Amino acid sequence: MGSALLSTVVSSASIVFISVLFGLGLLVAWWQFDMQRHAASWAMSFLLASVGHGMRVTGIMVPQDAAFLAMLACHVSVASFAFLAIGFRQRAVRGTRIIWIVWLIAAAALMVLWTSGGPAWRMGSRIVTSLADFSMLLAIVHSLRRARGAGVVARWAFYLYALYVLTVGLAAWLARPGGDISERMFVVILSIGTPAGMIGTGVLTMLIVAADLTRTLRNQARTDPLTGLYNRRAIDDEAQTMLTRESQRAQPQSVAVVVADLDHFKNINDRFGHAVGDKVLRRFAQHLRRQLRTVDLAGRMGGEEFVILMPGLARADAMQRIERLRQGVPGAIGSIVGNDQVTVSFGIALAGVDEAFADVLARADKALYQAKHAGRNRVVAETSSASALSSV
Ligand code: GH3
Ligand code: MG
Ligand code: MG
Repeated sequence: MGSALLSTVVSSASIVFISVLFGLGLLVAWWQFDMQRHAASWAMSFLLASVGHGMRVTGIMVPQDAAFLAMLACHVSVASFAFLAIGFRQRAVRGTRIIWIVWLIAAAALMVLWTSGGPAWRMGSRIVTSLADFSMLLAIVHSLRRARGAGVVARWAFYLYALYVLTVGLAAWLARPGGDISERMFVVILSIGTPAGMIGTGVLTMLIVAADLTRTLRNQARTDPLTGLYNRRAIDDEAQTMLTRESQRAQPQSVAVVVADLDHFKNINDRFGHAVGDKVLRRFAQHLRRQLRTVDLAGRMGGEEFVILMPGLARADAMQRIERLRQGVPGAIGSIVGNDQVTVSFGIALAGVDEAFADVLARADKALYQAKHAGRNRVVAETSSASALSSV
């Protein structure tokens, strides 16, 4: 074997190993990370890519089967890009039918070219493969069109990759028998971008899996598992951020801080059981989500106690909204335990400029205590807000 050939074989073989490593890495990610289907699809893509590159190596070493292996490598290339695209579509929760259709058409075209056996099959197969791979990459670009931040870089990277793959198709046409460039030149063009594309895609998909995992864990750490609302930790963060933001405006808006506590909730648990109690809590959270505006925040402080933040409302408007929320409780929850069983008490305090969330919360809690004492199932707003005090 000549040294040039040897170096081609060795470098192709190293690409085989790298693809296998990416494939196995993504397989482990799939296994460890909630079995997210797209990680499995990406793993499949890289394992197939390693098979395809393996065929190229074998084709060099066993020249008598080179044509047959080249045909198979075209099929494997299309399949590999198809799984890559399927993974991206799955991750973006979009249908994969278009991918399967392109794959089917490409596979059929490759088969027709092979069986017709004409002199142009090699060029034709390369062009079909390039067009199919190009389409798959465009589907990936499309599924990333809403991406933000680093996702934008990924989208452009795939866009460039798609253009490169199209260039390979063009090179295949130019390298046709009697064409403008040599077969050797085609191989050079194919070899320039293919490893970079594969390694770049491997790194990118691994980073995406890692970034998604981080985001999921972060969301889990901030979400109350029973109701899906913010948990105590998250609401402390978010509320303080909201208060600080409002204080820094040229004209600060008031923020109403509301504490809600289900009345005699212990009785509900005692009479209907803990599971029914949980269902009531979930239903109340749903009621909050439906009634609140998108700018409002809601969280579960623990037990049967919730907190709501409503920015930009005058005191009377905040009271009116919470009053409506209270009146809606039997309609929202009554079906579980009977209409008059579940009531909720609310305490409201308005945050003063630069006031710490913990301090407003304590005042809202006092108002809640008054609501409980006055007979429950009512809304009480504290009479002296910090902003009113400061103007005395
Ligand atoms: P009040 O009107 O004074 O608020 O009376 P209450 O019974 O609602 O108040 P108390 O604080 O005495 O009881 C709260 C009960 O909430 C006690 C506890 O068993 C129940 N609870 C706390 N967390 C959960 C939960 O996650 N699920 C269920 N089902 N019950 C819970
Ligand atoms: Mg209670
Ligand atoms: Mg309570």
